[in-house]
Amino acid sequence: MTLQKNIDRASSIKLPTEAVIGGKLVAAKSGKTFANVGPRDGKTLNLVAEGDAADIDAAVAAARASFEDKRWRSKTPREKKRIMFKLAELMERDLEELAMLETLDMGKPISDTRAIDIPTAINSIRWYAEALDKVYGEVATTPSERLSFIVREPLGVVGAIVPWNFPLHMACWKVAPALAAGNSIVLKPAEQSPSTALKLGALALEAGVPDGVLNVVPGYGEGAGQALARHMDVDLIAFTGSGEVGRKLMAYSGESNLKRVALELGGKSPQIVFADAENLDAAAEAAAWGIFFNQGEICNAASRLLVEEKIKDEFLAKVVEKSAKYMPGDPLDPGSVAGAIVSEAQMKRVLGYVEKAKAEGATLAKGGNRIRTESGGYYIEPTVFDKVANTHTLAREEVFGPVLGVITFKAEEEAVRLANDTVYGLASGLWTANISRAHRVARELRTGLVWINGWDACDITVPFGGAKQSGFGRDRSLHALEKYTELKGISITYG
Ligand code: NAD
Repeated sequence: MTLQKNIDRASSIKLPTEAVIGGKLVAAKSGKTFANVGPRDGKTLNLVAEGDAADIDAAVAAARASFEDKRWRSKTPREKKRIMFKLAELMERDLEELAMLETLDMGKPISDTRAIDIPTAINSIRWYAEALDKVYGEVATTPSERLSFIVREPLGVVGAIVPWNFPLHMACWKVAPALAAGNSIVLKPAEQSPSTALKLGALALEAGVPDGVLNVVPGYGEGAGQALARHMDVDLIAFTGSGEVGRKLMAYSGESNLKRVALELGGKSPQIVFADAENLDAAAEAAAWGIFFNQGEICNAASRLLVEEKIKDEFLAKVVEKSAKYMPGDPLDPGSVAGAIVSEAQMKRVLGYVEKAKAEGATLAKGGNRIRTESGGYYIEPTVFDKVANTHTLAREEVFGPVLGVITFKAEEEAVRLANDTVYGLASGLWTANISRAHRVARELRTGLVWINGWDACDITVPFGGAKQSGFGRDRSLHALEKYTELKGISITYG
């Protein structure tokens, strides 16, 4: 598919505008809409229903009714599986459309949405469909006059609030295990990227997910998001997003019904390169990919590059060279490896961090500028700063953009200390040929994920989530089912 063909398809595609509540596609009760702005050219793509407290009330009521009459949770595992497989099949049927919607909303390259975002989301639906009857209960070791067994039951109404950086992928990390566990759901997509979530809601209906089981309410965080998180009839908020909003969600829970809260938050992930690494070219490739993939808008972006001092100059040169391929292009161009930053506000925020890094004394080794201004869209060059101190703002705060900070160390203990000297704990990586060091350092790093001699070695079978202020609760793997289920002990005493 050429760029021109993609532009033609983009101009004819119909973006979804309505919420999905109780099995129907509906406008907001207030009649209000918000502008969905495309970062590719800064133009409004469409006007989307602006859900607020009234729409959330309706969606939660529909979800609750579907949970109470058991129209989903009492289906046999085989039937639930069949419907979830059907949903995956429909997503595959509409893969090109979903990929286009994601690229238009969010600005990421069409080659990524086709090959990564949408297939990964489909894989989540399939994986949890396959898993749903493979998780067994337990029998406890009680005295012999009693039999106690431990079962997992669906929680009830799950509120899922997701970000814009991998819109459908993040939504499916929540929706797939929540559905598999028998819950009913109200999904609130980010205001920057509502389209694929709305399409998912419609496809779920087509697949046979009963009315009210998966509701999707677009709207702003302070409006629909807050109403969902404060709702007295929601049992869990499963959230992916910023720490700032995560803090609010915990307060809302305390101020409302003490609903559970599971948080997948940000990071300031370190990638440590020791001089004894076997393949410095591969490490440099991973260093560039780790921060520039998805325009750096990744929670586990390798934003702090810790390099052993004696190889720093040689290694930095390699990283700068490898970063060239991440120069942003038109997201609709099949050849683009990087695209636009999601919004004007986010672009300004990232450029603000670039200025701050300069002011605090880091040295700009590459990039630092907005480019493709004539497009009207929001594009930033891959940017590398040398001579960053771990105390600099660039090393402390999540930029969520294509900006890498290089920090040097002299010894292993110093590398570990610097890596752990952050409030975050999502992911970390290390490159070394010394197997003892690899194991030793991996055990010392206080992060939910550690990648040795590779970066972002992600798989649906491995739990994803962080330590410290990167949140709690895990997405992916069978462990994700824990947060969508209630653990119940049932005891029979023999007469
Ligand atoms: P954000 O926290 O601003 O928004 C996330 C979601 O929360 C959106 O749907 C938004 O509308 C909603 N929201 C905002 N204010 C709210 C409120 N007061 N009440 C309820 N909901 C509210 O995050 P973002 O800018 O969309 O995404 C970027 C962030 O997401 C980064 O911090 C990134 O690290 C994080 N993230 C984490 C993971 C992970 O798995 N750990 C994955 C992807 C992104």
